[in-house]
Amino acid sequence: MRLLRLLGYRGLSMHDLEPYLNGRKQGKVVGVTFDDGYQNNVTNALPILRKYGFTATCYGVSRMIGKTNQWDIGKVAQTPLMTLDDWRAWHAAGMEVGSHTCTHANLPALAPAQARAQISDSKQELENALGCEVRHFCYPFGWYGNEHVEMVRAAGYVGATTTKRGRVHTGDDPFALRRIMVARATGPLQFFIKIATPYEDRRG
Ligand SMILES: [Zn+2]
Repeated sequence: MRLLRLLGYRGLSMHDLEPYLNGRKQGKVVGVTFDDGYQNNVTNALPILRKYGFTATCYGVSRMIGKTNQWDIGKVAQTPLMTLDDWRAWHAAGMEVGSHTCTHANLPALAPAQARAQISDSKQELENALGCEVRHFCYPFGWYGNEHVEMVRAAGYVGATTTKRGRVHTGDDPFALRRIMVARATGPLQFFIKIATPYEDRRG
């Protein structure tokens, strides 16, 4: 976040990014998103976001609040997810709540009615639990088909992010937005190259 600031970028939630995505505003902005809703979003990320005056979106799994990443059992270590109080603190600080389905579902493996329910019920459940509008969606595992893009649109979301690599460009489908992965091992130089050059666009 310090590097973004030094480079003159503002980190924004997907909601705050909307005017830039639809072309009403222009500026040096970067969308900041976190998937799954781990507790370290509140303990580690939130203080830093606040320090820099940035906002961010966290995509939550509506029926896993206060639990762990059970969808990863046997593959990835179990890590605590945000409790309802954590989510309230996240939202009260001006951060955005997005949806990542009810159970971190593998959408292409589900019947259409089940996939539709995962997409629309999670929106409703998060909105009811937190009293806020949930406008943005993120495909679990980055797996989706054209039919899921339509389901997300029909459920009333205004945008969705994928794991396809690259920066967002004018005219891109708002329901299939590319992203840039920043991991523990991403150093400052690599971060700069990923954000400020076409490097990720070519890898996507
Ligand atoms: Zn996920």
